[in-house]
Amino acid sequence: MSSDSVRPWPAAALLLCVSLFAAMCLSLGPAGAVERSLRGELKRVLVLHSFGREFRPWSEYARAIKAELERQSPWPLDIQEHALLTARFNNPGPEAPFVEYLQSLYQGALPDIVLSIGAPAARFAQRYRAKLFPDTPLVLAAVESRLVNRADLTDNDVVVAIRNDFMAAFENILQLLPDTRKVAIVIGASPLERYWVEEVKRDLKPLGERLELVWYSDLSFEEILKRAAKLPPHTVLFWGLMSVDAAGIVHESDMALRSLHAVANAPIFSYQDPFFGGSTVGGPMHSVAQTSARTVSVAIRILGGEKPASINYEPLGFSPPRYDWRELQRWGISENRLPAGSEILFREPNIWERFRWQMLMITAVFLVQAGLITGLLHERHRRRLAEVESRQRLAELAHVNRYSAVGELTTSIAHELNQPLGSILTNTETAELMLRGASPDMDEIRHILADIRRDDQRASEVIRRLRSVLKKTPFEVRDIELNDTVREAIGLVRALADGRRIALAYMPAPADLHVRGDPVQLQQVVLNLIINAMDAVSDGDIKKREVSVSTVRAGHQAEIRIADTGPGIASADLGSVFNPFFTTKPEGMGMGLAIARTIVEAHHGTIAAENQPWGGALFTIRLPLIG
Ligand code: ADP
Repeated sequence: MSSDSVRPWPAAALLLCVSLFAAMCLSLGPAGAVERSLRGELKRVLVLHSFGREFRPWSEYARAIKAELERQSPWPLDIQEHALLTARFNNPGPEAPFVEYLQSLYQGALPDIVLSIGAPAARFAQRYRAKLFPDTPLVLAAVESRLVNRADLTDNDVVVAIRNDFMAAFENILQLLPDTRKVAIVIGASPLERYWVEEVKRDLKPLGERLELVWYSDLSFEEILKRAAKLPPHTVLFWGLMSVDAAGIVHESDMALRSLHAVANAPIFSYQDPFFGGSTVGGPMHSVAQTSARTVSVAIRILGGEKPASINYEPLGFSPPRYDWRELQRWGISENRLPAGSEILFREPNIWERFRWQMLMITAVFLVQAGLITGLLHERHRRRLAEVESRQRLAELAHVNRYSAVGELTTSIAHELNQPLGSILTNTETAELMLRGASPDMDEIRHILADIRRDDQRASEVIRRLRSVLKKTPFEVRDIELNDTVREAIGLVRALADGRRIALAYMPAPADLHVRGDPVQLQQVVLNLIINAMDAVSDGDIKKREVSVSTVRAGHQAEIRIADTGPGIASADLGSVFNPFFTTKPEGMGMGLAIARTIVEAHHGTIAAENQPWGGALFTIRLPLIG
């Protein structure tokens, strides 16, 4: 039973295995096989450095070449790197131990390609290739064309050469800073660097007297830093190389350049882009990217089977000029001086680019605020105009009101004028009589004349006061003394009070009260209130007809109080007496108190009416004191 039930399984499993195998074979096909074989083939790459793995500019070339190679290679790579340390000594020691070391390392497992970076590594590879890796293709990368040892080149080599154009580098300096008179050239003392000193000198010969060249090749870097901090004006620094200084100190990485940049009082120029970005101004330079791209393309072609002899390139020159914006700013070099087609890097974003949204918000707020301020200023201007207009009207109305008040004063004025005029007449007649006598008393006549003069002055004073109160003047504010202003107003109504048998008392404050105001207007207010008070008491008992005016200092205010012994104001009317056209008098106009309030408020003061507990009305004007 059981064997029957399991029997179909082995057949089914076999069928499944066969179909899976067929599917695998189909999916691989011929192309798949090639790809697998390519991918499976490990390529061994040997990179030889010149001074060390962290020496600029070569370190940057090596880094870029490796990165690009790893990116482009269709094969898995085994990249091994070695640095030719002997190149860094001023007096190179024996290379034999290093050669032996490499020999034992690569015995039996030779690299597929050797990449040398820089001239010393190229020289070394050429010298020992027969011993170390006789049939391995060699790419001599980043070698200045003058340093290529052409005699030892084989069919298995490709040179990716570069060409230093010192003339172009120095022309760039003169283009940017035409006043340059001196160039201090920073360069080390290793054999390679010494070679370049001579080459630069030769290349720059055409500059002749135009530039003074100062060489730092015999100085320790410490000394170079000291000198660079105190360079005379119109001097620039040219960064050639600084691998090993005259004191034998090795300068790896870009520490040396950075410390020079930190102390130098002059701009630094260079012709290598590994030194660009933070320390040098810029100009035409060798491009790491360009050289690396070419080296990698050569390496891939060779690893793919191409014959090195078939690959040939012209040396690479400088790439189009690039400049560091920060250095241009620092040394005040105008962008107008840069050659056409230049690229400016490291431009710091301005405040608008950095805080775009914030700036837009702030601008919007400013604009709204400016709009509001303009609107408010416009409103204020209009209000000022309206105020001036209303003061004008007020002055006109007050003027009319003064005429009506003066109308009431006619009797009083006539009385005031009649008195001195009458006296003058009497005195003149007396004097005439005396002069007709045989021996006139001259002393007496002199007295009479003095009296005449006094009476005349009194009459003139009455007219002056009348004229001043009737004068049509615009509202004009100035510093005034309130006690005197009130006294003058009382002077105008005194005769009227006498005529009506009213006791008019004035009690000024003991000290002066200085306020800002228009005296004519304020006198008009006082006059109106006194006339009203006199009206109020006129019908009362002849013995109780009293109007008392006083001025008081109350804190920061001056008060004018006008009290009377009249019937007071009906409590229902207390709230309305200042309203225009409110009157309880048969021939009243009801404008006196309304105008009085307007005038007082125009002086930033207040006016109030109340009834005194012992009877009669009390009007109080309060005005701000000065100081
Ligand atoms: P008019 O004197 O033409 O009536 P006013 O505006 O000067 O106009 O006065 C308005 C009203 O206020 C007066 O009609 C009167 O009823 C009341 N009034 C003003 N002063 C006094 C006062 N001292 N005593 C009583 N009532 C007064």
